[in-house]
Amino acid sequence: MPVTNFPIDYFSSVATPFYYYDLRLLDNTLNAILEASSDPAFCVHYAVKANPNPKILQRIAASGLGADTVSIGEINAAVAAGFPASKIMFAGVGKTDEEIRMALLIGVGCLNVESAAELEVIEEIAASMKKKAPVALRVNPEIDAHTHHYITTGLAENKFGIAMSMLDGLIDHCNKSEWIDFKGLHFHIGSQITTFEPYKILCERILRLLEKYPYMEFKIINVGGGLGIDYDDPDANPIPDFKGYFQVFKENLPLKPGQQLHFELGRAIVGQCGSLISKVLYVKEGVDKKFVILDGGMTALIRPALYQAHHKIENITLKSEIMEKYDVVGPICESSDTFGTDELLPLTRRGDLVAIRSAGAYGEAMASGYNCQPLPGSLFSR
Ligand SMILES: *Cc1c(COP(=O)(O)O)cnc(C)c1O
Repeated sequence: MPVTNFPIDYFSSVATPFYYYDLRLLDNTLNAILEASSDPAFCVHYAVKANPNPKILQRIAASGLGADTVSIGEINAAVAAGFPASKIMFAGVGKTDEEIRMALLIGVGCLNVESAAELEVIEEIAASMKKKAPVALRVNPEIDAHTHHYITTGLAENKFGIAMSMLDGLIDHCNKSEWIDFKGLHFHIGSQITTFEPYKILCERILRLLEKYPYMEFKIINVGGGLGIDYDDPDANPIPDFKGYFQVFKENLPLKPGQQLHFELGRAIVGQCGSLISKVLYVKEGVDKKFVILDGGMTALIRPALYQAHHKIENITLKSEIMEKYDVVGPICESSDTFGTDELLPLTRRGDLVAIRSAGAYGEAMASGYNCQPLPGSLFSR
C-alpha cells in the first residue's frame, strides 16, 4: 500500500512538471521527530536549504522546530514562515558583510563560523553595531573519509569548517573578545547517512575534543544533519528511524547541565513527502531501447544528473499488467538528463503521468531555468 496517494483528477488542472507534497506525511514525520527528540536538551532545526517552499516552511515552523539557514534569503524566508529569530541559526562559508549585519539586526540565535577570516569580520561588524554576536565555531571532526564513504564534509582540509589544530587559537580569541558571545561548537559530517555508525564515531570525536577544554562552557553542541532516507523503497520506509537516531546521541554524548544539543535535519524531514510529477511527451522506440521522454528533466530535479542519484519512478496513470523496460529521460539538451536506465514500468503511453518519488529535499530547491525551462510549480495534498 503506497504511503502517498496520487489524486490524478486533482492533478489534471495543473501544468506539468510540478512538485506534489503530501502534507499528511510531512506532519507524521514531524510528529515522529517531536516524539523521538523530547529530551529538553535536544533542539532540532530544519535545514531550510533542503526545501524553502513557503507552505512547507510554515508547516515546519508551526511544529516548533528551529531553522538552519545559509543566506539572508533563507533567514527572511524562515522569518516570514513564522520561525522565531532566536531559533534561526546562520551558517555558510561565504556570509557577506550585509548578511552578517542583517542577521545581527534580526537577532538570529547563532552564527556558525567557518573560518578565522569570517570571525574577524563578524567581530568588526558586531563592534560597529555595538551588539554582541552569538557565535559557534564549526569544527571539522577529521573523521577519515575511508572510515565511512558517507563522510565527505568532515575532513581536515575542506572549504567547510575549521581544522581541529586551529581551534585553540580561535576559542581563545572568542573568549577575549568584547563583541563575541561564544556559544559552542558545530559539526556536520555529510549527507544521506543511512547507518548510525558515523554518528557514533562523531560522538566519540566530540567527547575527546571537549575533554581538551575542561575549563570551557559549551552551551551549544551542534551535531549537524545528514540523516538519510530510503530512496529505493519510499513506501516501505516513509519515515526515517528517528528514535534510533536520537538514541545514538542520548547514549554516546552525555551532556552537562544547561547544555543544548542541536540537530540540523533537512532531507530526513522533507525528502519523502515530495514527488516530481511529469507528463510523458513521447515513447521513443530506439534500436535496442525504448525511451520515455518526460516534460520534466534535470532543470526540475537535478539530483540524478548532479550526483548520479536514483529516485523511484512510478507511472501513476496506468495499472497495466504488461511490464516493459525503459530509459526514463527529460527534455533537456544534456545526456546526463536521465532519471533511470532499464526501468521496469507498466506499458507506458504518451500523456501518462509519472511520479519521481522522494523528491521533497534538494528538488524544488535546486530547480533551474536552464534551456529557458519554466520553474516547476507546487501542489499540496488536501
Ligand atoms: C546541508 C546541511 C545540513 C542538512 O543536511 P541533510 O543531509 O539535508 O540533513 C545540515 N547542516 C549543515 C551544516 C549542512 O550543510
